[in-house]
Amino acid sequence: MAEVTLEKIVSLSKRRGFVFQSSEIYGGLNGAYDYGPLGVQLKNNIRDLWWKEMTQIHEDIVGLDASILMHPRVWEASGHVANFSDPMVDCKNCKSRFRTDQIDLASACPVCGNKDSFTEPRNFNLMFSTHIGAASDAGSLIYLRPETAQGIYTEFKNIVSSSRVKIPFGIAQVGKAFRNEITTRHFIFRSVEFEQMEMQWFCAPGTDDEWFEYWKTQRFAFYEKMGIRKSHLRWHQHGKDELAFYAKDAYDIQYLFPMGWQELEGVHNRTDYDLSQHQEFSGKDQTYLDPATNERYIPYVVETSAGLTRNVLMALSDAYEEETLEDGETRTVLRFHPNVAPVTVAVLPLVKKDGIAEAAKELELSLREEFTTFFDVSGAIGRRYRRMDEIGTPYCITVDYRSLEDKTVTLRYRDSMEQVRIGTDEIVSAIKEANKNYKRVEK
Ligand code: ATP
Repeated sequence: MAEVTLEKIVSLSKRRGFVFQSSEIYGGLNGAYDYGPLGVQLKNNIRDLWWKEMTQIHEDIVGLDASILMHPRVWEASGHVANFSDPMVDCKNCKSRFRTDQIDLASACPVCGNKDSFTEPRNFNLMFSTHIGAASDAGSLIYLRPETAQGIYTEFKNIVSSSRVKIPFGIAQVGKAFRNEITTRHFIFRSVEFEQMEMQWFCAPGTDDEWFEYWKTQRFAFYEKMGIRKSHLRWHQHGKDELAFYAKDAYDIQYLFPMGWQELEGVHNRTDYDLSQHQEFSGKDQTYLDPATNERYIPYVVETSAGLTRNVLMALSDAYEEETLEDGETRTVLRFHPNVAPVTVAVLPLVKKDGIAEAAKELELSLREEFTTFFDVSGAIGRRYRRMDEIGTPYCITVDYRSLEDKTVTLRYRDSMEQVRIGTDEIVSAIKEANKNYKRVEK
């Protein structure tokens, strides 16, 4: 089977409207991306699956949408002002900037090839800053949030007092985060503006190890549910040198991206660090009175922190396949799970004339309540199937002359390319059934 490279994913993303570079007509902005019609639908589908998993399927998790801009003291309390930095060097010759952990300082600059051209390493804070209000003095300095989690901590007390939640419980949030990454690399894998899907699970001290194990299991299972190949997922435990100073234990779920194994999501035991810090910096009590034991404590937190935009890259990489067919032809197919595919059903009239296009359009309109649909009349039917394969549409329906007579159509399955004749009144249930039983065939 042909190798899946990042170049192929980038090229398909642009060609078919999944992801474009931001401000391309001006030469592009490094590390910033725009999600096109198919990309935004794919991203929203992944987000919706996660949201449903967290707030609907799991008990005791409530949602939040906190502001991106927060009081600057938040980032002092969280440790980001002091510690959220990467050590970096500049090449004095070509001015390229590198993270010291990503290059060999003893060798030549990987961009211009000059030797002994690196500056001394210094720490570079990854938070973007801006100013609030009309004055741009030190007092107006604020940051774009580098993670969504802090909004959850600062609303902890409000949610406890307004939502009737009891420990253990979780708060889930999806939203944008910003990091002034020294090296933005690998397409949307590492960008300066991205989206996170984070859940903070508040629990009693002493129960945290057990919940940590629980959430590890749950999060791994989620990706299998999303149809991601198990062979491409693994755990990586943070070693002593990787572990954040406040964390008790941390594991990453890694995915085998085209450029190798890389972090997709982190599951962290953050102890009572964050709430204790906010209590100290704000002077506001962050303790919880446990009605079960009558004890007062600062809860421990198990965090599950996933990149939504990084999930989009994973979904594309995992789905991408160049398949050689029996007739020797090759087709590019995205084997998305039907739950994340941007288009679920394409309706294709075999020919335009004799009322077939009109009948097909009518059918497509009738399916819109249930599924995301696409209508395509132009080109040979084989080419139209290929176009749908390439964007990962799991089902195609073809309307022909016989359809006008007996109200039957051809339903084609993307993965097997099998075609069956079914009545138009059976389409919705056939697709729902196929979605429910969908299984990725690993080749
Ligand atoms: P790294 O060490 O690779 O910089 P991190 O360990 O600091 O990343 P976390 O702070 O744990 O990452 O962020 C949680 C998740 O957010 C990551 O698993 C990843 O999916 C996503 N993420 C973090 N930084 C970026 C980024 N620059 N672009 C896209 N997604 C990101």
